[in-house]
Amino acid sequence: MLPFSRVAIIGLGLIGSSIARAVKATMPTVRVTGHDGDAGVRDRARDLGFADDVTDTPGAAVIDADLVILCVPVGAMGAVAQSIAADLPPEAIVSDVGSSKSSVLAALTAALPDNAIIPAHPVAGTENSGPDAGFATLFNGRWCIVTPPEGADETAIARICEFWKRLGADVETMDAKHHDLVLAVTSHLPHLIAYTIVGTASDMEEVTQSEVIKFSAGGFRDFTRIAASDPTMWRDVFLSNKDAVLEMLQRFSEDLTALQRAIRWGDGDALFELFSRTRAIRRSIIEQGQDDSRPDFGREH
Ligand code: NAP
Repeated sequence: MLPFSRVAIIGLGLIGSSIARAVKATMPTVRVTGHDGDAGVRDRARDLGFADDVTDTPGAAVIDADLVILCVPVGAMGAVAQSIAADLPPEAIVSDVGSSKSSVLAALTAALPDNAIIPAHPVAGTENSGPDAGFATLFNGRWCIVTPPEGADETAIARICEFWKRLGADVETMDAKHHDLVLAVTSHLPHLIAYTIVGTASDMEEVTQSEVIKFSAGGFRDFTRIAASDPTMWRDVFLSNKDAVLEMLQRFSEDLTALQRAIRWGDGDALFELFSRTRAIRRSIIEQGQDDSRPDFGREH
């Protein structure tokens, strides 16, 4: 039996439109309604046709839904939840896809009536945004982390987990605080480092902008992909996951200082030992099917 029959998606960008497409591909009888705050995005979503109905107001999208998924930047979750509260059917389960979970859970809990709230985070995405960037297979073989609040209804949790499995994801549950710490190190800190490196390179006076672009085939190019990620989304991630990111950043700065010392004192053994450990981590990621094993991420040369 399908876990839901009427899914409403608020925010029709990369993630929202990918969910709509994946629902249509894997559960074609499910009715999908959608709304986006941006009239241009709504028009484009209607043209692309991944939802049965794209409504002009958030309330109209959720009015007969049994699952509502908020797919807007994390800083907008509270306001969007408020905008649907009056029209939400009491039995509808509300979920979201935000990249940080503790602050989103607090915002949804404050804004919504007594609906079951089961947040989730599909750990899948690209550096592109908007309704054209989405695709039905985005979640295939990727993790979706479900972060139910304490005491959440077990049936509601099971239905959300089943929904994500049907979209192709592997599902794991954990509490929101632990999620935020794990993602701070696996996702948020790497983005911060990429933003810093690309920013530093573009600010350097001794190296011209054109040289940075021309000779970018070294490691720099891969940082630029991450640093091209959506500015609104990532501003909100850092503001909403402040504590965990600052904790990880502190540890990172200490490790960076240790590396600085190893380079200064010519401690090749320390460098070699670390680089061997990191190479093994890359191998494990490939072995677990979380990345492409071909050299240079399978790029054509
Ligand atoms: P996106 O492509 O920019 O889509 C977000 C959409 O939400 C945009 O169309 C945006 O419209 C709309 N929106 C913003 N505020 C709104 C509001 N108050 N009411 C209604 N619509 C509103 O972003 P995304 O990558 O799909 O990210 C959506 C969520 O998924 C975020 O919470 C993010 O943390 C999470 N997430 C992202 C990734 C990723 O890799 N991108 C992965 C996992 C989870 P305008 O911008 O045109 O105003």
